[in-house]
Amino acid sequence: MPIHLVDVELFQRISVNFDLLVALEQYSGICTKSLVVEIFHSGPKWWSDRPMLKSIELNCLPTVNTEKATGSIRATVPPGTWSTVQTDPTHRHTRSMAQKTALIVYAHQSTGSFNAAVRDVAVQELTEQGYRVVVSDLYAMNFKANATQDDIIGDLKNPELFQYGDETMHAWMEGRLSDDIVAEQRKVEEAELIIFQFPLYWFSVPAIMKGWMDRVLAQGFAFSLEKMYNNGIFKKKKAMLSFSTGATQTMFRPDGINGDINISLWPLQNGTLHFCGFQVLAPQIFWSPAHCPPAVRTAMLEGWRTRLKGLLAEKCLTFAPCEMFDLSFQGGFMLRPKVKEEQESQPFGITTGHHLGKPLPPDNQIKVQPTDENSVKPSCRN
Ligand SMILES: Cc1cc2nc3c(=O)[nH]c(=O)nc-3n(C[C@H](O)[C@H](O)[C@H](O)COP(=O)(O)OP(=O)(O)OC[C@H]3O[C@@H](n4cnc5c(N)ncnc54)[C@H](O)[C@@H]3O)c2cc1C
Repeated sequence: MPIHLVDVELFQRISVNFDLLVALEQYSGICTKSLVVEIFHSGPKWWSDRPMLKSIELNCLPTVNTEKATGSIRATVPPGTWSTVQTDPTHRHTRSMAQKTALIVYAHQSTGSFNAAVRDVAVQELTEQGYRVVVSDLYAMNFKANATQDDIIGDLKNPELFQYGDETMHAWMEGRLSDDIVAEQRKVEEAELIIFQFPLYWFSVPAIMKGWMDRVLAQGFAFSLEKMYNNGIFKKKKAMLSFSTGATQTMFRPDGINGDINISLWPLQNGTLHFCGFQVLAPQIFWSPAHCPPAVRTAMLEGWRTRLKGLLAEKCLTFAPCEMFDLSFQGGFMLRPKVKEEQESQPFGITTGHHLGKPLPPDNQIKVQPTDENSVKPSCRN
């Protein structure tokens, strides 16, 4: 079915909303989930190195040099009817650059929960700071948690032996990931800050949030062997965990019944967030809200509000930078001998995970570490 987009009004809508896909949807009455959209203009080729990501790259529209952002937009509804519009050469994109976006990936089933209250404080406080706050309410969205071949549109590369990572990487490159994944990836691209808000489940995130990580943070989009950790794709973005526990703080001490919380947080903070390049802010932990008096819960929420006011100015947690390692299969991706040697005189391991058989650096995963200018420095990129 052809769509006729040649109408100045379309661009007026875009200029108001800066949300091209929504504008297209409203204008054409066609669900943009089934639209492939491509932008051409006479300015710098700001999407050309990632031609498969047209719909995502549309979000770059506001950052295009407005003087040069003339040209045309064309859109198609499969199976391939193209329609073209000319952009208004006098149109100026101005919003955008100033407003920052925060994404809250939220997992709790109940609107009256403590986690909902924590989320609401973040939405309110960040909005007051001028952020555009986007919430992915995973249970409300009925977000699919399991990573299956339904996440790929079209033919599989290897139907005989389905390999989720390989297939989703190809699907990402070819714009064939399922709509729900693409929608979340677009939110990640837009966000400067991502907060994961959840109740701790089995020392980790609830399954629905793990599913978000498994499916949204696809290879190519979120990481590659060349782009990981401090060289990772999202190295300009910040991310943090904000969660509540059933256990008390003392239960998660190194001498408490659950063991050291720093160890519990290592897989999520290092293995997922930092692996994708995020600068990881110290986690916000609400210890055992169900087992404390109402006044303490109120104080926790107020403490969170106060922290949010200065959140983006905080230093991030420290991790071992890639430069410390021999990043080759031959070298086993292991610490360089020189670094190992330098570390010998240090009283603590480098990080919670890279402990080198020594005492763990205290609170490495929950507090920003003081920097010692004379030592081989773990990385904190702000
Ligand atoms: C499958 C599973 C696995 C788990 N694994 C772990 C684990 O490994 N480790 C662990 O420590 N815990 C674990 N837990 C416990 C879980 O982490 C806690 O139950 C959860 O963090 C509590 O958060 P909540 O938002 O559900 O609290 P809620 O029960 O919703 O709230 C706690 C209290 O806060 C009150 N409240 C709500 N809103 C406000 C407000 N605005 N102001 C003040 N008070 C308010 C509520 O009324 C309630 O009294 C697990 C639970 C499950 C179900």
